[in-house]
Amino acid sequence: MTHCCSRLADEIENGSTLTGNKKFLKYDAQRRYYAVVCDQEKKLDLQMNYCPFCGFKFPHDLCDEFERVLLSEFGPDYLTSFGDTIFETTPSKKSLPQEFQTDEWWKKRGL
Ligand SMILES: [Zn+2]
Repeated sequence: MTHCCSRLADEIENGSTLTGNKKFLKYDAQRRYYAVVCDQEKKLDLQMNYCPFCGFKFPHDLCDEFERVLLSEFGPDYLTSFGDTIFETTPSKKSLPQEFQTDEWWKKRGL
């Protein structure tokens, strides 16, 4: 996995010294987005468009594509709607096609 700068990579992999090495930034490879972790347990996070350290503009996220591709190629069984914009996989990540458990699916499709 490569990030825009070593500072961001370090924060994501090792957490921040400011927060006692608690990880407050994350990278979601499945959906290709960077975010500030707001609530680990509830899986709430705030998506970032730019790197807070070097100002790099991240590529657009693939949240919509994730659902669209899954739906069109594998049917509705893998998706459950919770409200308007948040989708979770169901019943667990294990049931997702292998390629959708990592960044393989979007790399394969050239997204
Ligand atoms: Zn950066």
